[in-house]
Amino acid sequence: MLRALDLQDSNAGVWCARDGWSQDPAAPSIESIDPTTGQPLASVRCATAADYERLLRSANEIFTLWRQVPAPRRGEAIRLIGQILRENKSALGSLVSLETGKIKPEGDGEVQEMIDIADFAVGQSRMLYGSSMHSERPQHRMYEQWHPLGTVGIISAFNFPVAVWSWNAFLAAICGDVCVWKPSPKAPLCAIAVQKLVNQALAAAGFPGIFQLLVSADEALATRLVEDRRVDLVSFTGSTEVGRKVGERVAARLGRSLLELGGNNAIVVDQHANLDLAVPAIVFGAVGTAGQRCTSTRRVFVHASRAPELERRLLQAYRQVQIGDPLQTGTLMGPLIDAAAVERYRQAIESAQRAGGTLLCGGGTRGPGYFVEPAIVLARNEWEIVQTETFGPILYLIRYDTLEQAIEMHNSVRHGLSSAIFTDKLQHAEQFLSAVGSDCGIANVNIGTSGAEIGGAFGGEKDTGGGRESGSDSWKAYMRRQTNTINWSRELPLAQGIDFNA
Ligand code: NAD
Repeated sequence: MLRALDLQDSNAGVWCARDGWSQDPAAPSIESIDPTTGQPLASVRCATAADYERLLRSANEIFTLWRQVPAPRRGEAIRLIGQILRENKSALGSLVSLETGKIKPEGDGEVQEMIDIADFAVGQSRMLYGSSMHSERPQHRMYEQWHPLGTVGIISAFNFPVAVWSWNAFLAAICGDVCVWKPSPKAPLCAIAVQKLVNQALAAAGFPGIFQLLVSADEALATRLVEDRRVDLVSFTGSTEVGRKVGERVAARLGRSLLELGGNNAIVVDQHANLDLAVPAIVFGAVGTAGQRCTSTRRVFVHASRAPELERRLLQAYRQVQIGDPLQTGTLMGPLIDAAAVERYRQAIESAQRAGGTLLCGGGTRGPGYFVEPAIVLARNEWEIVQTETFGPILYLIRYDTLEQAIEMHNSVRHGLSSAIFTDKLQHAEQFLSAVGSDCGIANVNIGTSGAEIGGAFGGEKDTGGGRESGSDSWKAYMRRQTNTINWSRELPLAQGIDFNA
């Protein structure tokens, strides 16, 4: 079992768990709504401005201690969190499913991602490598090292109510940072459940308080977090519209932000594509999580020679999609998150039809709860509605004649998150992945756009915000880099050969 540093004893009271559950009876509350029924699940009391101050001060104080804990020991704390998540995977997965409407395997899958990134972070805690450089001056040594950054504010979206937090929080923690999490007000119960599990694990580890929770639906409080100079990094996951405001506000104080915003992801199906692979990838990408993933497939560019066959097979597959209670075995698609999402979905279908699109299937809505029928629309890439991320299961099918044309249309959108080509032709695959190919942060061959393994850096370009999270060297975003030069000679050679004694 891990023991806290001796520092803990000399700072009794500092290492204490904090959360955003206000003690103030006058604090505002929000309701968590079950999207399957439209009925309230629970009422949650939010943090007040005074709670925010308490939390931030505590996070800043705890950072002064946590940064001194050796990184591998920080990793050990995350290992204990991974363990408690393993023990509670099914229960937490069910809660994700209940509160967001994801089907149960997706709810469980999200918790598995948390476990995976915990394992990854434990290993990374022993690999926070810096480089060494050869100095141009004799008897000098030059190297760089990575230091903890400070307090990280994590603002997360409703559609990945627990995994996104863990991608940030576990890496930030092994880097020596303390996190304040403002979850989506549409999924507060998931956040509270995670915080409770984490508190248990961290109390056992001897390091309570490195993860703090701020439940709030108050935009003013979120803005305060974004503008607060005591928050060294704001990691924001959500829509491009809100992310743009966040990015601008953080930049105004010359702070650091990590932006993971929307996507308008596409799959290219060329004349050499294996449709046995392409069809399930498209269906999963467009219909999975009811089209509410940042990596959901929204556009398909199909070579004209394969279009009739692809349309026929997609329609056949869409007919098999069972829509219903996300916790029921066999359900493939649950509801959208709320009534506003259903309305946006309805309006998007109308816009596509007004622009001249042909609705091949779906487009209807069903109550009670926030259910819609997944739609396929024959469309043109340049229509404004096709250029827009509608967070629901609408798939736009677009024909093309040459790969250059497909890539040109593929890249002519504002977002740049995830992309894929289905082809058995090597040259086409390589062209798609090359500098003249996809302009996205994620580009795949013979695997769809939806989801990603935690081992790679996750994120995208353009209106997707440019941030990278999770694997590869994403950990560097949570640390500050320092270049060190050590002179072990008896001389003081100045830069550019300047002689100051002359
Ligand atoms: P959203 O932008 O409405 O909300 C995201 C978060 O921002 C919530 O916690 C919300 O309370 C908070 N927020 C609202 N106003 C704010 C403000 N002024 N300042 C700071 N925070 C504020 O997004 P959503 O509807 O919850 O999620 C869907 C969107 O998120 C989609 O666009 C999706 O593509 C995107 N998303 C991106 C990724 C990614 O990794 N790229 C992952 C998941 C979701």
